[in-house]
Amino acid sequence: MTSTADLSAAELELFVAGPVLLAGDPGLAAEVAPFTTTHTPAPAVVVGATCAADVAAAVRWAAARGLSVAVQATGHGLPSALSGAVLVTTSRMAEVTVDPAARTARIGAGVRWRQVIDAAAPHGLAPLSGSSSDVGAVGYTLGGGLGPLARKYGFAADHVRRAEIVTGDGELRTVDADTDPELFWALRGGKGSFGIVTALEIDLVPVARLHGGGVFFPGSAAADLLHAYRAWAPTLPEETTTSIAVLRLPPDPALPEPLRGRTVVHLRMAHLGSAEEGAALLAPMRAVAPALLDGVGEMPFAAVDAIHMDPTDPMPVLDRGTLLRELTAETVDALLAAAGPDVDVPLVLVELRQLGGAVGRPAAVPNAVAGRDAAFSCWVLGPMFPPVAGIVPAVVDSVVAAVAPWSTGRALLNFAGSVTGAEVGALWDEADRRRLLAVKHRVDPAGLFTHGHVVG
Ligand SMILES: Cc1cc2nc3c(=O)[nH]c(=O)nc-3n(C[C@H](O)[C@H](O)[C@H](O)COP(=O)(O)OP(=O)(O)OC[C@H]3O[C@@H](n4cnc5c(N)ncnc54)[C@H](O)[C@@H]3O)c2cc1C
Repeated sequence: MTSTADLSAAELELFVAGPVLLAGDPGLAAEVAPFTTTHTPAPAVVVGATCAADVAAAVRWAAARGLSVAVQATGHGLPSALSGAVLVTTSRMAEVTVDPAARTARIGAGVRWRQVIDAAAPHGLAPLSGSSSDVGAVGYTLGGGLGPLARKYGFAADHVRRAEIVTGDGELRTVDADTDPELFWALRGGKGSFGIVTALEIDLVPVARLHGGGVFFPGSAAADLLHAYRAWAPTLPEETTTSIAVLRLPPDPALPEPLRGRTVVHLRMAHLGSAEEGAALLAPMRAVAPALLDGVGEMPFAAVDAIHMDPTDPMPVLDRGTLLRELTAETVDALLAAAGPDVDVPLVLVELRQLGGAVGRPAAVPNAVAGRDAAFSCWVLGPMFPPVAGIVPAVVDSVVAAVAPWSTGRALLNFAGSVTGAEVGALWDEADRRRLLAVKHRVDPAGLFTHGHVVG
């Protein structure tokens, strides 16, 4: 039997049901178009996988030629040129099956959260999706996955029951707590280091409605709001997950008029409880300053995107995150001095997400998600277009440096941003980093997976 190892790239087409595109093919740019457009991906070969067998064929073919392998679902992740890589695109692997009795969903590698939310909602269930339902469910979950229900239910990675994965050695494995506990530990939090996950079985939670949304305040009230937030957030129950961000918004006609071209403070809240409870919890923050827009109220979980109102159009950005042990008055002052509305810096967003609650406890079946010891996650994002692109990396780094005295020195993997190489390994403590590396050496011995946030 001919092995895929003997084929040319064009012949690989015979072994995969999806398209195979080579550098220079028309159609390649559209196939690989990422959400984060900071780099134009230029891989050597693209395989538009339709199933696990396509993924396995692509991985074996790459392995036989010593080529690196990358995976892309939506392109919301770390942007990269992917030079010389075999890129497996998974958007065609879009199956979602909900089992309402078991409260689980089986999701294919290319599924976006919107599909899972819509499939779960008729059963009064919800996934542990994040701020934007446009993000890929599998990449998000493997990187931890911190969403608006996090303090009540933990990270998305804490609610994975089973994974199907083509590892770097070309094997298609079904992995759960019994079949391969080490790989199961590692891939829930270790992301794309080990192979390409072709499907996940995840828990759904019984959430149909919540009290949530966002309040936009003028940037001029940022100091009062951030200081109030630092005192208020620790008083909230685990049923409440919040974040606060300083946003520099463009003069985009698609934005509501009061927000266009302004620097604003955006307070986000998701409360699992009654409207009365939610309103009482939010009252101290509403009292800090008059709102420009107040969108907090009763809502179906399916409207969850209204909480963060993330952008939905692709854009070039650079981001970096850091975890804070504590948010003191001095931390807030340092953040305001580096990136507050009075400072002229090219940034899109500076965000604080409150952790704690279930996020601070180990998963029922422990996993490799790091950062549970932190109190807040801080995320900084800048625009990578002219004329500011040249200075944005230094500005983003300077904001992270400004809060370094309160940082654990690490970041959540999904919010780590532009870190590569040894900086990725340093997101875990030494024991967990070695444990991740041991798993990687076993299942990806040739080190095919080197792109993105990869340990080792
Ligand atoms: C607008 C926006 C909002 C976000 N909100 C949140 C949030 O609320 N909470 C949060 O935790 N994160 C959030 N993120 C970060 C996001 O979860 C990660 O960037 C995630 O990796 C995106 O996955 P993707 O598949 O959509 O992106 P892609 O760029 O397609 O993939 C990114 C990486 O995910 C991994 N990956 C993807 N698919 C697979 C697979 N099948 N097998 C193995 N590895 C895979 C790979 O390492 C890949 O390089 C957000 C990002 C953006 C841009």
